[in-house]
Amino acid sequence: MSTAVPDRAFVYCVDADDRIVSVTPEWESFALENDASQLTSESVCGRPLAGFIANRETQHLYEMILEKVRREACTVVVPFRCDGPRIRRFMELTVSPGQNGQVEFEGRIRREEEREVVALFESPGDRDDGYVLVCSWCKRVEVGDEWVEVEEAVTRLDLFGATPLPKITHGMCPDCVGQFHQQFDSSV
Ligand SMILES: [Zn+2]
Repeated sequence: MSTAVPDRAFVYCVDADDRIVSVTPEWESFALENDASQLTSESVCGRPLAGFIANRETQHLYEMILEKVRREACTVVVPFRCDGPRIRRFMELTVSPGQNGQVEFEGRIRREEEREVVALFESPGDRDDGYVLVCSWCKRVEVGDEWVEVEEAVTRLDLFGATPLPKITHGMCPDCVGQFHQQFDSSV
């Protein structure tokens, strides 16, 4: 079921060295609502953006976006998913250049869909030694040589009601990598 969402903007800025220099109160509220209460203005400002991005592929993607925005002094808009256990959240990230090499990231929720709770995406409880790979951009899960929505992955990997569940590790799926390289990589 698709639900209307209030138009909120979650904004943070990085300086010319890609360190976070400011976050808005709305950004802090969003972190709090999403089990990330450790992400406060005080705890993130002054720290490198890359430290908050779990995997190398996604870090590289952010580097490509930042490079393009600074080089061409342009604004880019990229869709991404920020799902919760009970929600598919379709978001949009607008990245724009500011003064002195600063860059502003503005996230907005475009659409949300409720779903049955997906235990795999709940806060980590007991997990076994296995891993499933989740694309940090589109939130699909790798099953064999395919990338599928998490609900389908749970069925295919026979994780429904499984305890303990495997751990989650993040990477990027080939579709997202290809799309972003096409859009942002100046060397292509
Ligand atoms: Zn993906």
